[in-house]
Amino acid sequence: MLQPVRQLAEKVLGGGQLDRAEAHELIRVDGDDIHDLFYWANKIRIRYKGRAIRFCAIVAAKLGGCSEDCKFCAQSSHYQTVVGAQQKLTDKQVLNSAAHAADVGADSFGIVNSGRGPTRAELEDWLGPMLRQIARTGRTRACATLGALTPETAKFLFANGVRRINHNLETSERFYPSIVSTHPYSERLHTLRAAKQAGLSLCSGGIFGMGETWDDRLDMLFTLRDIGVDVMPLNFLNAIPGTPLEHQPRLAPLECLKIVSICRFVYPRVELKVAGGREVCLRDLQSWIFFAGADSTMIGNYLTTYGRSPELDHQMVHDLGLEWQTYDGPPAEPAGEHVRLSPVRRTGRFHIPILYENELTALPAEAH
Ligand code: SF4
Repeated sequence: MLQPVRQLAEKVLGGGQLDRAEAHELIRVDGDDIHDLFYWANKIRIRYKGRAIRFCAIVAAKLGGCSEDCKFCAQSSHYQTVVGAQQKLTDKQVLNSAAHAADVGADSFGIVNSGRGPTRAELEDWLGPMLRQIARTGRTRACATLGALTPETAKFLFANGVRRINHNLETSERFYPSIVSTHPYSERLHTLRAAKQAGLSLCSGGIFGMGETWDDRLDMLFTLRDIGVDVMPLNFLNAIPGTPLEHQPRLAPLECLKIVSICRFVYPRVELKVAGGREVCLRDLQSWIFFAGADSTMIGNYLTTYGRSPELDHQMVHDLGLEWQTYDGPPAEPAGEHVRLSPVRRTGRFHIPILYENELTALPAEAH
């Protein structure tokens, strides 16, 4: 088994791209050979990413009370979890979180809202002014996770200083209906395409350990490679009591690391970010994520669970002889103060501008 891994690694190190059949070969690496998989994934990381590590931080500005039924999520109103009814942070709390994120070295700071998508009022009156303020400081990249976007709301975010959106595919198209029934996979794909067309950098990945197969994992990975994302967050399910996945067993640490390595082989230049579930699934092997090929991780707390202290992550990176890179882009100059969203035909009870299948015909061809 060692020889194929080495041959595949040399192909990637030489600038080649693995195809689906080759990536499938890597799934079979097991036992002691798994360390060779990490070894070569690490070589690929160093070849394409050097010693630089990036952190990102998030804050749940609007938490809970979500209309959607994602089976892994503590914020869905379909399930009884500790999160309960919807809560919103004040602007001051969100802006303090952004300042703290920059203080602890986060390259990007993401405002995260529960819900299927942002409402017009949220975008124009609440998120827009905060995002402009964060973007103007230039201390971190303004990022947003707001659910489904249309071409117009994606452009609105760009005009208000956002430079990256996070919108995960979560899993493969085949397995997705077992996890979410309230909105289609195609909506997620349309959101990514609309965001890309608006000039936003894309952060999209998924959650592993929800009962999917290795083929599902590869399907998602190759779909994301086709779309061309800049950052790929890898979450490992931290099962939340009260959700339908609450009894799903945790992935073993070595399986998490194997996922990281295979992602690095398939997508050598992407920013590969180990996100939720790092502490509980990897336990003592957290620092191995970089040896397995990751070059990025989250710092601070997650949406509904705690992370560890930023000092421990700084120490981990320092002890490994790696260096975290803070945001080095220019401050955005948001021109969105006067941008107003047009009323949309299908807004529903919450006035959410969702892009419906039958509205796609109105999009230019390249956005499909
Ligand atoms: S993942 Fe997002 S859309 Fe799904 S239930 Fe949770 S908050 Fe709602």
